[in-house]
Amino acid sequence: MPVWNPSAELLPRDELRLLQVERLRRLVAYTSERVPFYRDALGRAGVTASDIRSLDDVRRLPFTVKEDLRDNYPFGLFAVPKEDLARIHASSGTTGKPTVAGYTPADLVLWGEVMARSLSMAGVTADDVVHNAYGYGLFTGGLGVHLGAERIGATVVPVSGGLTKRQVMLLEDFGATVLTCTPSYALVIAEELAEQGIDVAKRLKLRVGIFGAEPWTETMRRETEAKLGIRALNIYGLTEIIGPGVAQECEHAAGMHLFEDVFLPEIVDPDTGETLPAGEQGELVLTTLTKEAMPVIRYRTRDRTRLIQEPCTCGRTLVRMERIMGRTDDMLIVRGVNVFPQLIEQTLLSIEGLEPQYQIVVQRVELLDELEVSVEGTSALFETGADARRASLGARVTQALVEVLGVSVNVRIAEPRSLPRSEGKAKRVIDRREL
Ligand code: AMP
Ligand code: ZN
Repeated sequence: MPVWNPSAELLPRDELRLLQVERLRRLVAYTSERVPFYRDALGRAGVTASDIRSLDDVRRLPFTVKEDLRDNYPFGLFAVPKEDLARIHASSGTTGKPTVAGYTPADLVLWGEVMARSLSMAGVTADDVVHNAYGYGLFTGGLGVHLGAERIGATVVPVSGGLTKRQVMLLEDFGATVLTCTPSYALVIAEELAEQGIDVAKRLKLRVGIFGAEPWTETMRRETEAKLGIRALNIYGLTEIIGPGVAQECEHAAGMHLFEDVFLPEIVDPDTGETLPAGEQGELVLTTLTKEAMPVIRYRTRDRTRLIQEPCTCGRTLVRMERIMGRTDDMLIVRGVNVFPQLIEQTLLSIEGLEPQYQIVVQRVELLDELEVSVEGTSALFETGADARRASLGARVTQALVEVLGVSVNVRIAEPRSLPRSEGKAKRVIDRREL
């Protein structure tokens, strides 16, 4: 498969390191000159550009955390005057003010570049029709993919999220070969196709899906590939760094190649901030090496992953990151026990008779935490006379969850299509406790 930018994606690692150090040094000079927040933070750390001599010196730089973005809302971290901005995006977050990102024209060129690399890594070419069902608007998903697909010269269908029946009609009528959306929305589309009895192999031309913006599992990949008759590949990114296009899986689907020439990754212990030995799982920290409007130094993503240093069979020299294993802040503590939502998903999807739609609710009943997991069963489980089968499945699911989680759980087998669906990022966990 073609490599969009061989000089970056196939760069020998020693040359890559030299480039990274050079860019890091320039970033320290640039931010201390232009962003008061970094001038202060770098001053406190006692680091100037000339102190950056090797890549290890990145550890001397201060971290940036989400709070810093919030404290400097909306434009306090920008390194250019407002007139130089070409675009502003924002991530809604769950509460309060959004996280804002600004782009100069050069930043948009960079974004188009990393998205073009991502899409072509997934096999997209100028001949493809890209049905882009990521949300358009302040969210970076829609316009980020759009930029990359246009750069490649593909035909973009900027459909955005929602109106699933119409999505299905357009997928067929416009002959889309590539689907881009969140993995949970891909399943909603698959469900609608099944509901309408559409034979995807006969009536659709879809070949590959590029899914991201939220966590998903290998089991979900297999389900999606089977239901849509496509290859499903993972893409990663975040507003604070640029949007989608930080890392992308190649056709071997064994971790996402991270564009290290422009985004410098580290893995740290989420509790101590110490750099972890190569290959260990921890919190991903990212530094933007060439961004103009909103450069970020050592951003604590709160995403947990591992870097894979071994060379990939595709020939790219870029490091790979494993699929996100969860967030450092998504762990639920239920009756003192650590509960990872991803583990619940993995367990549910390994059980026959369940659909990949579930919701986790934690509430406090008479001072005790209660964990409830609702998961949709197949329609066969809701036919008349299936009550006993449904109950025994419920018991099996309960037992499996108790075993992996080590905490009691109420399981509810819900009717097909009864749980809320999402057009973008799915909301799988609802914590009703007032902590
Ligand atoms: P946003 O800035 O709103 O686009 O959200 C970015 C966050 O979405 C990241 O920090 C991750 O937690 C999550 N995310 C993005 N892509 C993926 C992915 N492929 N797998 C898991 N989580 C992802
Ligand atoms: Zn590869």
